[in-house]
Amino acid sequence: QPILETRHLRYRYEHSESWALDDVCFRAPKGKITGLIGPNGAGKSTLFLNLNGVLTPTEGEVLLDGEKVSYTRAGLREMRRRVGIVFQDPDDQLFSADVYRDISFGAVNLGLPQDEVRRRVEDAMQRTGVYELRQRPTHALSYGQKKRVAIAGVLVMQPDVIVLDEPTAGLDPKGVSDIMKLLCDMRDQMGITIIAATHDIDIVPLYCDYAYLLKEGRLLMDGTPDEIFARP
Ligand code: ADP
Ligand code: ADP
Repeated sequence: QPILETRHLRYRYEHSESWALDDVCFRAPKGKITGLIGPNGAGKSTLFLNLNGVLTPTEGEVLLDGEKVSYTRAGLREMRRRVGIVFQDPDDQLFSADVYRDISFGAVNLGLPQDEVRRRVEDAMQRTGVYELRQRPTHALSYGQKKRVAIAGVLVMQPDVIVLDEPTAGLDPKGVSDIMKLLCDMRDQMGITIIAATHDIDIVPLYCDYAYLLKEGRLLMDGTPDEIFARP
């Protein structure tokens, strides 16, 4: 059973004539890295935002661990705790004075005891390699460092799934492999399911267990990297 699934999902933005997503049946296998690949305008960001309840499907449904997501306050709170999202631009999710506080924000918000918050933040900082940056003001970090801090801030929630929009955009080749290896570690060591929406099909053979190709709001094909690249 997939951990996160959409069934015949359709999404239309307000005042738009066309479907940004049309009949999308997407299944993210548990504990794997799934690539969601497509050119600009394919609908990746729209699907990304439907996978954690930021957007509500116009038609169709989203299932988390086999259960239909309910778009109530409680249902959305549960979904946002279990499905972490990492935006393309880290400045969209980092707004505290320093790295430590940025990473702890979600855990503090959950109302966890201080000791538990500290334990989770330290663990997340170690895993993402930002421990040395913990006292730095977030705005003074490089783009790649900010991306790591954003991922650490999601890890403290101990999510089942992390969905990332364009995790490799704007990074040099070393930055790309560092981020993708970090995602592989999270899969291997923590069992977290990773969904990476990207126009960068090159990550598929290197890092993905499975991939979906999206174009003009529709899914074109899905498969393992071998299956995807075997086809003409
Ligand atoms: P991608 O992330 O693959 O580039 P998007 O999900 O951003 O694709 O866009 C899918 C389609 O939805 C595009 O046609 C885009 O122009 C449209 N779209 C995206 N955001 C909005 C919006 N806020 N309002 C209206 N249309 C939008
Ligand atoms: P991405 O590929 O990361 O979605 P885009 O350039 O497609 O980047 O979109 C950048 C921002 O503009 C996003 O917030 C998206 O929702 C919004 N957007 C994209 N297309 C439209 C559109 N046709 N109308 C309004 N907003 C849009």
